[in-house]
Amino acid sequence: MESIIPFNKPYLTGKETTYILEAVNSGKISGNGIFTKKCQNFFEEMYQFKKCLLTTSCTDALEMAAILADIKEGDEVIVPSYTFVSTALPFIRQGAKIIFADSETVTPNIDVAKLEALITGKTKAIVPVHYAGVACDMDAIMDLAAKYNLLVIEDAAQAIDSFYKGKPLGSIGHMAAFSFHETKNIISGEGGMLTINDKRFVERAEVIWEKGTNRASFFRGEVNKYGWVDTGSSFLPSEIIAAFLWAQLEKLEKIQIQRKKIWETYYTGLKNWAVEKNIKLPTIPDYATNNGHMFYIVCSSVEQRSAIIAKLKDKQILSVFHYLSLHASPYYMDKYDGEELPNSDRYTNCLLRLPLYFELTQDQLDSIIKILVSFD
Ligand SMILES: *Cc1c(COP(=O)(O)O)cnc(C)c1O
Repeated sequence: MESIIPFNKPYLTGKETTYILEAVNSGKISGNGIFTKKCQNFFEEMYQFKKCLLTTSCTDALEMAAILADIKEGDEVIVPSYTFVSTALPFIRQGAKIIFADSETVTPNIDVAKLEALITGKTKAIVPVHYAGVACDMDAIMDLAAKYNLLVIEDAAQAIDSFYKGKPLGSIGHMAAFSFHETKNIISGEGGMLTINDKRFVERAEVIWEKGTNRASFFRGEVNKYGWVDTGSSFLPSEIIAAFLWAQLEKLEKIQIQRKKIWETYYTGLKNWAVEKNIKLPTIPDYATNNGHMFYIVCSSVEQRSAIIAKLKDKQILSVFHYLSLHASPYYMDKYDGEELPNSDRYTNCLLRLPLYFELTQDQLDSIIKILVSFD
């Protein structure tokens, strides 16, 4: 019997438990210790993020961003509809109305050509999502933000080690959020990071991170006692999580090379077949890079997608579709009063993700490609 090829398999570098043991033996396992600082410094140096704070998830990093952006009842926040619920949720909790934007035709990213029409006097922020780690058109978004005095919070959950015109994603917006969930390139089980590029938010971010206290500045000796000074929550992960993450960061380059290689193999192997079958492969715009986060295809119909999923499943290969447009979700559809979002709906119905993980072998890849190109 052939063995199952899962959609995702979390990759372990081998050093995770070594560093966890080190953290445990150090006697300091709560947050903001040595491993947390090592990870944060790594990101700040490697990608020129002004300030990094590890969080318990990307969702939590976005929660922090929504608090820092001072989003209130009556504010509007523009979010693509084709995204994970976490992109919208923190802003809804702050009382905002979400204005859902459509995706572009060529990528699932937010369509900047339709963005300005969504801005009103109540708009406070835009939250672009770099889908599959491929950059949104950030110059256009930042220009609009400057023109209307809006904040830009990048949902860079999938976008580690990816670039826009040479600039690291997560370093362009006022703030950005990354995920280290086990389905992402660099993982810690659950985990995330807020990056703050606008220095107006740095000091307050540390306070919100540590339950509304000025504990971080106390430990730097900047204040002589610490106490409750603001709102916040317990957004910081334990050192056990940070130790795991550190093991991953040491192998970042190796992981990225392998993932991009797999991506390229899919692209080359499926190119001709896709044209024949009227299936679209991912487009990487000139201004963007590919970080090997995801390989997806966009089928010509929901029926075609279902047939491909079934055929792969029959051969023990697990492929999965992705988001259901948020504006049409059970939680939101009754509240939705905006326009139709045809591209978002098309990706909902037609986008299919293929297995992509570090340990996917050349033989497995070849067999997946072979099965696909024999599909008609
Ligand atoms: C994975 C993901 C999230 C959520 O990340 P968590 O770390 O699980 O909270 C948010 N947005 C996007 C686009 C994602 O892909």
